[in-house]
Amino acid sequence: MKYYSTNGKALDATLEEAVVRGLASDKGLYMPRQIKPLPQSFYDEIETFSFPEIAYKVADAFFGEDVPAETLKQIVYDTLNFDVPAVKVKDNIYSLELFHGPTLAFKDVGGRFMARLLGYFIRKEGKKQVNVLVATSGDTGSAVANGFLGVEGIHVYVLYPKGKVSEIQEKQFTTLGRNITAVEVDGTFDDCQALVKNAFMDKELNEHMQLTSANSINVARFLPQAFYYFYAYAQMKKIGKADNLVVCVPSGNFGNITAGLFGKRMGLPVKRFIAANNRNDIFYQYLKTGEYCPRPSVATIANAMDVGDPSNFARVLDLYEGSHDAIASEISGETYTDEQIRETVQKVYEETGYLLDPHGACGYRALAEELKEGEVGLFLETAHPAKFLQTVESIIGVEVKIPEKLQAFMKGTKQSVPMSKDFAAFKAYLMKQ
Ligand SMILES: *Cc1c(COP(=O)(O)O)cnc(C)c1O
Repeated sequence: MKYYSTNGKALDATLEEAVVRGLASDKGLYMPRQIKPLPQSFYDEIETFSFPEIAYKVADAFFGEDVPAETLKQIVYDTLNFDVPAVKVKDNIYSLELFHGPTLAFKDVGGRFMARLLGYFIRKEGKKQVNVLVATSGDTGSAVANGFLGVEGIHVYVLYPKGKVSEIQEKQFTTLGRNITAVEVDGTFDDCQALVKNAFMDKELNEHMQLTSANSINVARFLPQAFYYFYAYAQMKKIGKADNLVVCVPSGNFGNITAGLFGKRMGLPVKRFIAANNRNDIFYQYLKTGEYCPRPSVATIANAMDVGDPSNFARVLDLYEGSHDAIASEISGETYTDEQIRETVQKVYEETGYLLDPHGACGYRALAEELKEGEVGLFLETAHPAKFLQTVESIIGVEVKIPEKLQAFMKGTKQSVPMSKDFAAFKAYLMKQ
């Protein structure tokens, strides 16, 4: 499969080139030349397959031309060593729990897949060290760091905004050591993302070291997120709830929802999508006005969605050939304040006993407000509520049990490299590595 750049000025890349480079040389995002529909027979019997079986069929459509079948199968099965259950919350609203992986957030899927695929390419080529740069507003850092921990030939630099991630999130990528370095940036998530983008564009730095990105701009992280949309559909079909399925995705950088849109292109029968935003409502405003106006991000209690210039918007535009009408016909948007998020967490907990995290709360609320007669809603519960312990406990006034996987991280000692948001300082640091 060839990959082209959304900016249209770079040459096509192979899968390996796209994965190793992350971003195309013209600063565009890579897109596969083809999105292959899966056969009707697959959809007819999808509910009889396991999650890894379904995921492998999807992975084969994306990567089957470039990775030997046995290797790809191994990567998929290793990646998905946890379940992604669709759980009923209320009437016709279901939660797709994406938090049963090692760091309790959906990014484990893409992080684990990418680490394994990149590891395969490095072994195959006998490449020298590859350095992964990843900017995080919270959960990416932990998923990527844990996905890559101990993978030979790869060093990971996690850039995160100082004081803007929760303590548990921070512990998950600052305590690992080995091939993982945490860089604590005095700035916002957008500053971290800008440092990473600048690093990729810097000729001297790229001659000094092989750099790649593990943000959702990387196709190896982004595409595997499609897997669980298919498995979600299979689960809903099994219980007779798959007709008129509306999928709602709490969105920040728009990688997660875009993978779902790819699924729809492959024939997955989702009626429509909802992108739920916090107060960083760039996409919501785009749907309303047809104008894309990025702004500096503002901090919210759903901090993994505090993004002011969502990278994957370029992919959404490309997928619909720039047509606002086409985009608005398949995706609607909602935006919620911290107050509304709090209210939703509390109300759902009181009424149903189901504890939402602040991101999932945006997803739930959008469905509760938008679902029409005859529609069934599924929102992506993108992280475990205990990852946002203080926020969630202060809302419901009840102590939240911390899963064991998280407790293990809390015992580690934080280690980080302090950094200014100034590119020159970051570059000087990397040049010494
Ligand atoms: C990353 C993240 C999001 C946003 O996902 P995007 O792919 O960036 O849109 C939502 N919720 C949680 C918990 C996250 O970690």
